[in-house]
Amino acid sequence: MKKTHIAIIGGGLTGLTAAIRAAKQGYNVDLYEAAPRLGGRTQSFFHQPTQTWIDNGPHLLIGAYERIIQLLKEANALQNTMWQDTLSLPLWDERRGHFALKTSPNLPFPLALMRAVQQMPEHGLQIIPSILRLALSIKKEQKGSVLTWMQSANIKEALQRDMIEVLCLGAMNEPMDTADAASFANVLQQAFANHKTARLGWFTAPLSKALIEPLEKHCQQLGVHIHTSSRVQKLLSNEQNCILTTRAGSKTYDKVILATPPSIRNKLLNIEQNITTHAITNVHLWFDEKITLSSPFIGGIDTYGQWFFDISHQFHENNEKSHHLSHLCAVISADTSNKTHAEKVSTILQELQKITGCTHLKAIHQRIITVQAATHLVRPPQTPSVLPKHIIDACEQPISGELPATIESAIMRGEHAILQLLST
Ligand SMILES: Cc1cc2nc3c(=O)[nH]c(=O)nc-3n(C[C@H](O)[C@H](O)[C@H](O)COP(=O)(O)OP(=O)(O)OC[C@H]3O[C@@H](n4cnc5c(N)ncnc54)[C@H](O)[C@@H]3O)c2cc1C
Repeated sequence: MKKTHIAIIGGGLTGLTAAIRAAKQGYNVDLYEAAPRLGGRTQSFFHQPTQTWIDNGPHLLIGAYERIIQLLKEANALQNTMWQDTLSLPLWDERRGHFALKTSPNLPFPLALMRAVQQMPEHGLQIIPSILRLALSIKKEQKGSVLTWMQSANIKEALQRDMIEVLCLGAMNEPMDTADAASFANVLQQAFANHKTARLGWFTAPLSKALIEPLEKHCQQLGVHIHTSSRVQKLLSNEQNCILTTRAGSKTYDKVILATPPSIRNKLLNIEQNITTHAITNVHLWFDEKITLSSPFIGGIDTYGQWFFDISHQFHENNEKSHHLSHLCAVISADTSNKTHAEKVSTILQELQKITGCTHLKAIHQRIITVQAATHLVRPPQTPSVLPKHIIDACEQPISGELPATIESAIMRGEHAILQLLST
């Protein structure tokens, strides 16, 4: 019997997942990626001065991301991640220095979380009613922003500042006053379901090695035809099939899955653009002395850098050629500042001096990477729910209540596209 021939446009995590799932179902799959390498927003660059691979930005995982864990297992790559045993959220601010939201594994999770919050400096027993109100309100249908939710549930400002705001920026890439409450409630419910889901993980090597290469290899083993440096320029659909055009020419497919950023989908299908994205800025710094953070990452409170990552620690010095260098990276979510590159570096260096206690920090290399459309924000649905015949939409465009733009949601979209394919 002739195999159904499908094309997947976009070789990021969504496209790679769809390709693996489709090939496992017996489809004949062509994967088109515009860039010379696969990976999309989970990508690494070769940094000449240090002769190492660096990520566009460090990617944190949570234990609730069961789809990525499953996919990594299938690609034999779960060993490229490291996980906390139980939740520890190391934090820092100028007034209180280092502290953490750290749960004890010996208590049932809800109690462990309550105790952990209560033990943070300036919280104490008086924070407990706020935690209980938060726990009760999380199950109710949320409308509006995270801030309105916090205010209507009467959550103490100290709890908002030390837990909600930092998690909201990290998970939603958007501050509390505009981030969608229903989606954030979904994240909290999944993340704080139990000890196993409420823990953080990270990759122990650059994304290209830890994540993309194993998935690419898995695709090849399954017979997926990968076309890199192959930007799809035109996509047409008729009653019978779809015609896809790259600079190499046109080809006909039974079905096409769109796994590009939504702006590209809209361009290819002539849909009006109405997409809201936020940037993420990553300030990579290298030092020629041993500079370490007290944890693999630290959340900053009232700091310009919101998350500080100890990349050398996370990669276990995997970067052999630069093992004499210490590599730190500060992440600025929802970056809207007008600071120049020099001002960004100088502000981050000042914050790192305070966080590490090393008063004369001087970076010998620096690299700022700003990904302008880093995440598509949770917004009301914009595109028509029905796309042209034979085209399946797997693009990132989360709506209220859904998981925000993450690695996990990318994999879910890729998998969902194949369920749709199977049902047609
Ligand atoms: C700096 C940064 C930090 C992040 N941190 C985290 C984190 O800590 N945790 C987390 O869970 N998530 C994080 N994310 C979000 C996560 O990386 C993305 O949500 C996810 O990778 C999106 O995958 P995707 O495949 O849907 O899209 P993309 O990765 O954008 O893939 C789309 C692909 O389509 C290709 N393409 C575009 N046009 C065409 C065309 N015409 N023809 C062919 N190919 C085309 C692109 O080149 C790209 O490779 C972060 C993102 C960034 C940028």
